[in-house]
Amino acid sequence: MGTTHDFLERCDKLAVMGGTFDPIHYGHLAVAEVVMHKFLPRRVLFIPGGQPPHKPDLTVSDGEHRYRMTMSAVCETPGFDVSRMEIDRNGPSYTVETISALREICPPNAEIFFIIGADALMEILSWESAEKLLTLCQFIAVHRPGYEIEETYVENLRKNYGAVIHVLEGPRLEISGTEIRKNFAEGKPVGGLMPAVAENYARTHGLFSTQGTELSPARFEKVKSQLELRLSPRRFKHTLGTIIEAEKLARHYGADVNKAKWAALLHDCAKEFSADKKHTLCKLWCVPTDEIMLSHIDITHSLLGAESAKRQYFVTDEEILQAISRHTMGHAGMSLLDKIIMLAYFIEP
Ligand code: ATP
Ligand code: MG
Repeated sequence: MGTTHDFLERCDKLAVMGGTFDPIHYGHLAVAEVVMHKFLPRRVLFIPGGQPPHKPDLTVSDGEHRYRMTMSAVCETPGFDVSRMEIDRNGPSYTVETISALREICPPNAEIFFIIGADALMEILSWESAEKLLTLCQFIAVHRPGYEIEETYVENLRKNYGAVIHVLEGPRLEISGTEIRKNFAEGKPVGGLMPAVAENYARTHGLFSTQGTELSPARFEKVKSQLELRLSPRRFKHTLGTIIEAEKLARHYGADVNKAKWAALLHDCAKEFSADKKHTLCKLWCVPTDEIMLSHIDITHSLLGAESAKRQYFVTDEEILQAISRHTMGHAGMSLLDKIIMLAYFIEP
């Protein structure tokens, strides 16, 4: 558990949000922000579950992916962190075990709050060792559109189980993992529902859709029409010309024709970003630059193009990305595909 664990040893006030986080979304994040401001914990700890015991028949994304996707979404927020404790545990995750483990790690009288949405709260009595869990920590019950927190139910948990439950009005965002996975599968946008970094993580790793990242003719046509919208007519025409030349050269020299077409398709995808956007993205995407490149920012478009192809058009093939990144400045020891793309780019009519 590394540093998360180290810090918890000194953490006297902790809020925990458990969930599948498949994916993490603004519903979770907005609730966590409100908890941070109202309850003032030292940390809000997101704990993606192992295979969830209450969803045995559903396929859930791999734990490592859910952990990394969650980390990408929260790591820039002060006080937010993610724990691996449930994904590293074998078998299903029971919240009662997780809170017991946290009690062992945190100082003896640490205040621990478990954040729970209305839907999950209404089912809590069916959870493993619910009676024990209800006295192990305090609960922050959060309203969620479509689910009622019944006052009599909460009173029952308080009176008959000794539970401490704070009911939080919360931001009431109508967002769910289920809806987002559906949107992914149907090719609908999810930008307003979850952070872009988490969305990019999901797309780059092909989560939630079977036809997400492959280099098929259908996806080629889809990306081509996206570029037709995003590029100027002149740049798009150049792109089409480069595809034709790259295909011819690949056939002639026995290179992978499909890879050549994809590299040609995306080689200039960052070319028309504004200068400011190029400067900003070089920093944000950690593109290595030097003084000359910074004073002639346009030449970074090949390196930014490779990053954009990976992060925004979900191309994972390293040979394609390398060919895109080398098409303007060249490189020592260029591959056949690198040379084909650079040449196609120069000779297209
Ligand atoms: P799924 O639809 O796959 O169940 P989900 O959106 O419910 O996804 P989970 O990871 O299951 O997300 O939820 C983790 C916790 O966050 C639960 O306690 C859940 O009730 C709560 N939660 C999720 N979305 C919201 C929301 N929009 N508002 C308030 N609480 C939420
Ligand atoms: Mg849920």
